[in-house]
Amino acid sequence: MAQARTDIGPPLYKDMLPPICKENYGKWRYHEIIKPGVLVHVSETGAKLYTVRAGSPRLVSIQFIREICDLADKYCGGYLRFTSRHNVEFLVSEEANVEPLLAELAAKKIPVGGTGNSITNIVHTQGWVHCHTPATDASGIVKSVMDELFEYFTTMKLPAKLRIALACCLNMCGAVHCSDIAILGIHRTVPKIDHENLHKMCEIPTLTASCPTAAIRPNPKLKSIDIKADRCMYCGNCYTMCPSVQIIDPKNDAVSIWVGGKISNSRIGPRFSRLAIPFLPNNPPRWPEVVEAVKHLVEVWAANAQPGERMAEWIDRISWEKFFEITGLPFTDKHIDDFTLAQTTFRCTTQFKW
Ligand code: SF4
Ligand code: SF4
Repeated sequence: MAQARTDIGPPLYKDMLPPICKENYGKWRYHEIIKPGVLVHVSETGAKLYTVRAGSPRLVSIQFIREICDLADKYCGGYLRFTSRHNVEFLVSEEANVEPLLAELAAKKIPVGGTGNSITNIVHTQGWVHCHTPATDASGIVKSVMDELFEYFTTMKLPAKLRIALACCLNMCGAVHCSDIAILGIHRTVPKIDHENLHKMCEIPTLTASCPTAAIRPNPKLKSIDIKADRCMYCGNCYTMCPSVQIIDPKNDAVSIWVGGKISNSRIGPRFSRLAIPFLPNNPPRWPEVVEAVKHLVEVWAANAQPGERMAEWIDRISWEKFFEITGLPFTDKHIDDFTLAQTTFRCTTQFKW
């Protein structure tokens, strides 16, 4: 009798590797960046694998996917991969195919870059397109910011690499907690409770348990719940459980900017991002205030950092106080860490209050 297939998950990644990767698995000696967007990995066997990194807008059309797949079929045996930052990497085993591929990408206006001391594609979350709790959009802001910073994607003229991330609420399913510059959508008001409909739509025990700060208590009289405002950190988890606890607030939802996050262990250890700008208006469709703030931070860092110094390292050297002085950003009460009140109010760096 044929064995039932129980594993219907993704195929083993090794099945998808280009032949040159399989043949040289564990044998790669080094890699280098030949020019912006083009890397070469060299194996101890002498084999060379060229990687051409192209930018994608993350939310891509079927047409775009067909185009890049056609290019992969033509120049690299059909092998390409999406990186976690939504770049598309063509894995080219024939050196002669690199320049023709670059020429076709240029003709299609698909940018190549994001390597070395550059700003690579911005990793971001779902925003208004897919998620139900965003305080702001994701792809819209990212498009507006990257339009302004585009030259840094295709060149490598910055002092070090710079990673930007966006998350559209503080649940941060992006890399906002550990990026050089982070754009974070913030809710600033306690969810509004629809007492009349809550018991018809939601399970109160599940709703109560969904709150990470124990701000929610049952209200048996109303067959509903109460929220202790002092304990609420506006995370929106309750809204995920129950549509009668509305966290979205178009008037008060806003954008904040964080700096100095780092995920690698090189030179200094990994760092969480720190609050730099607590409030910027949520201003679609082009978010001019956010674009200007991010560009300003990039330019001040680029003008003042030493070669190889990432945002966190630069801030470490000059001090947090000096960072505010040089950038001209106001230091406000929102920037003050207040862990002493954490037990009663959960007030701390990532959960600042308004
Ligand atoms: Fe949803 Fe928050 Fe993730 Fe944005 S960051 S996609 S709002 S969970
Ligand atoms: Fe609790 Fe978050 Fe809901 Fe506030 S928004 S009540 S902290 S689950």
